[in-house]
Amino acid sequence: MATIRELRCSVCGRTFAPDSVRYTCPHDGAVGTLDVLYDYDSLKTELDRDRLRVSHEGSMWRYRALLPLAPDVIAPPLQVGWTPLYDSARLADDLGVRQAWAKDDGKNPTGSLKDRASALVVARAMEQGIETVSTASTGNAAAALAGVGASVGMRTVIFVPATAPEAKIAQLLVYGATVILVEDTYDVAFDLCTEICDLEGWYCRNTGMNPFTAEGKKTVAFEIAEQLNWQVPDVVVVSVGDGNILAGVHKGFWDLHQLGWIERIPRLLGVQAEGSSPLVHAWENGIAAVDMQPVETHTIADSIAAGLPRDRAKALRAVRDTDGAFLAVSDEAILASIPRVARLTGVFAEPSAAAVYAGARRAVELGYIHPDESIVLLLTGNGLKDVRRAQEAVGRGLRVRPDLAAIRQALASLEDT
Ligand SMILES: *Cc1c(COP(=O)(O)O)cnc(C)c1O
Ligand SMILES: [Zn+2]
Repeated sequence: MATIRELRCSVCGRTFAPDSVRYTCPHDGAVGTLDVLYDYDSLKTELDRDRLRVSHEGSMWRYRALLPLAPDVIAPPLQVGWTPLYDSARLADDLGVRQAWAKDDGKNPTGSLKDRASALVVARAMEQGIETVSTASTGNAAAALAGVGASVGMRTVIFVPATAPEAKIAQLLVYGATVILVEDTYDVAFDLCTEICDLEGWYCRNTGMNPFTAEGKKTVAFEIAEQLNWQVPDVVVVSVGDGNILAGVHKGFWDLHQLGWIERIPRLLGVQAEGSSPLVHAWENGIAAVDMQPVETHTIADSIAAGLPRDRAKALRAVRDTDGAFLAVSDEAILASIPRVARLTGVFAEPSAAAVYAGARRAVELGYIHPDESIVLLLTGNGLKDVRRAQEAVGRGLRVRPDLAAIRQALASLEDT
């Protein structure tokens, strides 16, 4: 395990002893999300990246030496992480770049990258003997907490907007979580969950607010680096709502860089939906995280709808420090991306995940990505999570009478289109 040296505020830079603060910086409040830092000099002498090659652990726990979990705690059994990274020449061709990979994090047990955060948070709750963990979520973080919680018999209480896609709500109920459908936005559900956790003494997994969400998510960057034999790509494209995945990806590469396992950190490109793009606005206008104001959100990409991104300070830093960029894409472009990604790579992604394809296209047009560069598209969630939106992009199929002549006629008409 990695022993935590200190927690550091992403806004003011103050540091705190590991057990002295639970969630965000006492001086900055909610905007001051914390980084979990280790003693990198001693990790550097203890660990060797080449030893990973012989590891048989096919999950995020292959990086347990770089995660904050006591050795006597048994990690939740679900196989989270170690998802495939597909090298796709057709995707590269289509986007006009030298090389392109798709990282299929929709393959996680509950269908999204959020499992990485939930696995670490639940493991830490077990370590501390906590009985109930709660979260607010647009859907995927909730499913992840419910699923990982179910795998160890942990009680979970979930707050989601009542408008979340049905598959996501069904998932929560199937896993046996206590589910509260809040008749308001994710942002409102988030604040309610924070308050109730405080009243009830539950451990709160709320994204960004809990410093271990990004710590779990960083494992996706570890995997990308290891799967590419420690030769990182030029750019990683990430879809952004609260900015916690972006923060986690950055932290993962940053940790590896501290250890000397990679030579540089890739440029990080954050993609938002036009109808929920406060970070694009802040980045373009030089607005600091502490000065950002909540905006109303309107997008079909429910997982990246966040009016006041909870991890805004780290998200802005991730893009700034890596010389990356933020950009916004329309809902139409997001919808069209679903079949594009699927037909180019064989991966069916939900709208918020497919958005990275539209973002990469736009980034090439704008010159944020150059034709001689290599990129990774991080596909954060499975397309089966939101079939209704996929149907908006591809229709519902052609119904045909069960006879050969009708079928041949139908085939001919399909080939015409
Ligand atoms: C949560 C989520 C995102 C965005 O992550 P943030 O940390 O909120 O920025 C993107 N895609 C999918 C599928 C998600 O579930
Ligand atoms: Zn602070």
